[in-house]
Amino acid sequence: MATRTAITQACRTIADAYGKPDKWAEGMAAILAENPGLKLPEWVTDEGISMAAESWCRDESHPPVAQELRSLALRLSRRPQVSGCHDCGWTGRREVLQVWVDPETGQERRRHAISACTCEKGREYTMHAVYTEVVRAAQGRPGFVSVTVTNRAHEVITARERMGEQAWAEFQRQARARGQGMSREQLDQDLRATIGRPELRRQQDLYAQPSHHDRGEWEL
Ligand SMILES: [Zn+2]
Repeated sequence: MATRTAITQACRTIADAYGKPDKWAEGMAAILAENPGLKLPEWVTDEGISMAAESWCRDESHPPVAQELRSLALRLSRRPQVSGCHDCGWTGRREVLQVWVDPETGQERRRHAISACTCEKGREYTMHAVYTEVVRAAQGRPGFVSVTVTNRAHEVITARERMGEQAWAEFQRQARARGQGMSREQLDQDLRATIGRPELRRQQDLYAQPSHHDRGEWEL
């Protein structure tokens, strides 16, 4: 784990190289040591942050912002293998399905995205919202209906869940109409192909409206 002294020293090296005042170096050191979203992970060593500062000064014509120095320190450090947890299937990611009714239009909206798990592996994605924050934001949204998160008992959000019962029924009706004269196997195959079809994903996107709560999630 990089000490505060080493972080400050690295920032001073950069400040000296680019003619920045001590205050600038202290500000960046504070971010890299304390900022919840930007502080260095524990596995970055004194040597890691020091190498990052030297490497930056050698290669770049302008001083870094904290995030850039952080990324470089992470790249230059030996990253340990971190394991996930049973609930995220050891991936560090959770699927979150939010359902709410838009108060203006009265229409149901659904949003399916991936958020970081709260386990060690999930913290690798510290720049992204942890799923518990997304759940809290969803619950506070006007028109909230439900929020579903994958876990060990519910490993994936199914196409049916993503679409909602009404859209799912309509989807099946259309598939059946297309499938007139098809064998059961052909129909199943057609259904599976349709679920994976990009056009259908775009159709689902119509349900999803970005909002400020949703920053930091991965769109599927
Ligand atoms: Zn996890």
